[in-house]
This record gives sequence, structure tokens and C-alpha cells, in this order.
Amino acid sequence: MQRIAVMTSGGDAPGMNAAIRAVVRKAIYHGIEVIGINRGYNGFIEGDMWPMNLGSVADIIHRGGTILHTARSEEFTTPEGRAKAYKNVKRFGIQGLVVIGGDGSFRGAKIFHDEYGLPVVGVPGTIDNDIYGTDYTIGFDTAVNNVVDAINKIRDTATSHERTFVVEVMGRNSGFIALQAGLAGGAESILLPEVPFDVKEICDKLMRGVKRGKLHSIIIVAEGAASGLEIGSKIKEITGFDTKVTILGHLQRGGIPTATDRLMASLLGAKAVEVLMEGKTNKVVGIRASETVCYDIEEVFNNTKKDLNTEMLELANILSI
Ligand code: ADP
Repeated sequence: MQRIAVMTSGGDAPGMNAAIRAVVRKAIYHGIEVIGINRGYNGFIEGDMWPMNLGSVADIIHRGGTILHTARSEEFTTPEGRAKAYKNVKRFGIQGLVVIGGDGSFRGAKIFHDEYGLPVVGVPGTIDNDIYGTDYTIGFDTAVNNVVDAINKIRDTATSHERTFVVEVMGRNSGFIALQAGLAGGAESILLPEVPFDVKEICDKLMRGVKRGKLHSIIIVAEGAASGLEIGSKIKEITGFDTKVTILGHLQRGGIPTATDRLMASLLGAKAVEVLMEGKTNKVVGIRASETVCYDIEEVFNNTKKDLNTEMLELANILSI
């Protein structure tokens, strides 16, 4: 293997830069050249790619976002779009591809491999942590820390005014961010897409808390479980409490990646290069019990639902009584 390419695709996640850096430096260490593809599959189709060197990834390990930019590409979902991308594979002499992104991006990679035979490896990069087969995805830890930081600030004002706060966080299909940030932030209730909930019960709990002298309450709502605004107005209607709603939105994706995200990204990026060097394809790299692993890309698609940690779920209920 003499030349590989790397791209970031789908939703951006803090720590993607650390992964790009690891791919580039690990490859160059082994005498492999690296082509950076800008704007995900769009840049692949358009030939928006450039040779990277050690200096190309200098001073990026601590920066959020992705220096290669990212995109969602409608055209790559068509055979015509992928044929254009293949022309660039030939033109640039690419012998392997590392795709840093979510399961959608992995699907694109697999289809491209199956059509054109280019070895592909996926590196899980998404703040949602919802990729099957890996304990962590790049960006998740930073997102959780961003939410906890916001909860801390909201808690100050909530205590001062004796108010109830509803905080809506990201997670359309999965409650990983809500659960971990809710537990770490000491939330009273955590609403997750995976677990049915009853607003009446949440309100009963709030009222019991007030009776025992609680000064404030914070309720975390994953966007896939319910709308924060709706939950806020229902709580206000049932309890009569002054209830404020904060939607954290894209704040959660931004900022300096945490040490954990940089570490995971570095390990995963380097592992992806190793996997390509071993002649493997249609693989995803991941972390299980603090060790890097490599598994079949199909596992991500066949087991779309990654289970929440039940111990954390039970504990969240016990600690918020
Ligand atoms: P993520 O990688 O974060 O899950 P998306 O689901 O939006 O993000 O996928 C990113 C890109 O991957 C899409 O815009 C598309 O270009 C490509 N992709 C996703 N699914 C397919 C597919 N079935 N065939 C070809 N390309 C796909």
C-alpha cells in the first residue's frame, strides 16, 4: 500500500481533527502517502483532494470541527456519482480509504468498495455515540462535557430563582448524551427516546422534591424523546411551577475536544491505517474495554440499535429521588 485517502463525512464531531492527524502521521511513519479529501463524498466526486504531509496536520489536535470539512452528498448515493468518484481514485492512485463519520458514511464506503473494490475502513465519528460495536465514538465525550457545563450554569440560575429547568439535548434516535450528561449533571429526570415516560410521574416527582425543600429541578430531554418546549409547558400546566426551557442545539458539537476524545481519535485513526496495511477491507475500528478493535462494517448495519447502559439507567432513577 503506497497511497491512501482520508475524509470526514456526515455530521461533524469534535476530535475528528485528532483522527485525521493520526491517520496522516501513522501512514507517513510507515512510508504511505496520504491524500486528504475535502467535504466528504462531495469532494471525492469533484476531485477536491490534496496531498497531505506532516505539517498539514500540525496544530490541529486541539481544534474542534474538521480541517477537511464535511458534507452530506446526495450525488454519492447514485451509481453515477460513485462512478465520478472512482475516476478520482484512478487519477490520484488511491489504494485505500479511511472514512471518519457515522453509519451513513460507512454505508457509502461499503457500497463503493463492493462496486469498485477499493479497500475501506470506517472510523466512528459522531457525538451521538450510537454506532454498534464500539464503546466510544469520537466527539461523544466533548458533547457530554458541553452539556454538563451548560447544566452547571443553568443550575446556578435555577437555584437562585427556585425554578424548574428543562434542557433539550441532541439525540434523535439515541439517549447516550442525555443519559450520561443527566447522570453527571445530577438531573432530576432524564427523558430518552429508548424509554417510555409519563409527564404526570415526572411532575409528581418534582412536587415531592419541592415538598422536601428542593430549590430547583433540572429535567434533561433528548430531542428524540420529546420536544423540550412541549415538556416545559406541560410541566408548567400540571405543577404551576415557573418552568424555563433551554435548547442547547449546536453548542453541543462545538469547542475544544476533551483529552478523552483526542485520545480515542488518535488510537482509532492509527488503527484504521494498520487495518488497511494488513490488507483488510469493509471494516470499522472501535474501542472495547479500553482496547482498539476491528470488526466487519456489516455489524454496524445489522445491529442498528446499540443498547444504553442499564446500570446507568437504573442509577439515574435512584440518585434523582
Ligand atoms: P453520518 O455518516 O453522520 O451517519 P449521513 O447518514 O448523512 O451521516 O451519511 C453521510 C453521507 O454518506 C451521505 O450524505 C451520503 O453521501 C453517504 N451515504 C449514506 N448512505 C448511503 C448509501 N446507502 N449509499 C451511498 N452513500 C451513502
